[in-house]
Amino acid sequence: MKRGRIILVLVWLVAMTLWAGWAFRGQIAVRLMEPQIAKAMGRNLASELPDGLHVMVCGSGSPLTDLKRSGPCTAVIAGTRVFVVDAGEGSQETLAAAGLSPAKVERVLLTHFHSDHIDGLGGLTLQHWAAGASKSPLPLVGPTGVEQIADGLNLVYAQDKVYRVAHHGEAVVPPSGFGLVAQPFVAPAKGPGVVILNEGGVKITAFSVDHEPVSPAVGYRFDYKGRSVVVSGDTARSPSLVLNSKGVDLLVHEALSPRLVGLLGTAAGDAGRGNVVKVTKDILTYHTSPEVVADEAKAAGARALLLTHLVPPIPIRALEGPFLGDARKRFDGPLWVANDLDLVSLPAGSTAIKKSHIR
Ligand SMILES: [Zn+2]
Ligand SMILES: [Zn+2]
Repeated sequence: MKRGRIILVLVWLVAMTLWAGWAFRGQIAVRLMEPQIAKAMGRNLASELPDGLHVMVCGSGSPLTDLKRSGPCTAVIAGTRVFVVDAGEGSQETLAAAGLSPAKVERVLLTHFHSDHIDGLGGLTLQHWAAGASKSPLPLVGPTGVEQIADGLNLVYAQDKVYRVAHHGEAVVPPSGFGLVAQPFVAPAKGPGVVILNEGGVKITAFSVDHEPVSPAVGYRFDYKGRSVVVSGDTARSPSLVLNSKGVDLLVHEALSPRLVGLLGTAAGDAGRGNVVKVTKDILTYHTSPEVVADEAKAAGARALLLTHLVPPIPIRALEGPFLGDARKRFDGPLWVANDLDLVSLPAGSTAIKKSHIR
């Protein structure tokens, strides 16, 4: 009898605990959220990392819908300076999730003007202005034609600028810091690149790639304290890319799997979608397969390879093998298929290449 009563009390206590957890779940969630908000507000990834060159994947996707990947975006951190190469859809959110506030972005560099590389610019530009009380616009670096992108976006957001200033006042959102300012350069002929920035130990070289009929189309090489990164932009097989990637520590390169794209084309044909069939054939001519990227990385003497701008999307990890084909056999160094929030670090004063994932 005594034992039965104890069990009854225990059951009652468990039931009450469960009920209290359910009844107060909102308050508990808020309590759990508070430290997370404080952590996110104060976070600055660039100041947490050791001195060196770092790549954070702020978008490993492509124009094809991929719920797991933002559009094309590669953040390059040199010391504490943050550069962003391309700003595809959702990239601003991925930057923020990594602890890289758009307010801290020094420059955005565009490789070319395909829509998937610029359709995240609006949010990134707004956050650069509003989150940082920036007094000068966000520099938008790119080959000739970048002026049109900057002017166009500034025009689209002109009314929003008026509203934001009315909401918060000029001290919080200084009108002088609104929008983008274009910093164009003339893309060189294919071959050796041109240095477009060389200050404070950071050197950025732009070189032309093969993305016809898109022209200009460039890639960028970053050099800092003996470490180096190349971001390919969009390109088919490109001798110019190989030339400018000589001995690079990390090659960040776009990749398209002809085999998996072929499956898309077949399915589109079966569904009677002739326009999609045509597109799946066209894109083979202005992108690069993982195997060819591996060959080019080997020819350049690149030490590590990170594949991004993945076409088609890879929803599960088991598809990485079919996506890569023979690429791993053709390149001796580390080869990774990028996910958003991947981080590759090249510490200064070392030859180390470390890959991690930000959670
Ligand atoms: Zn693209
Ligand atoms: Zn493109």
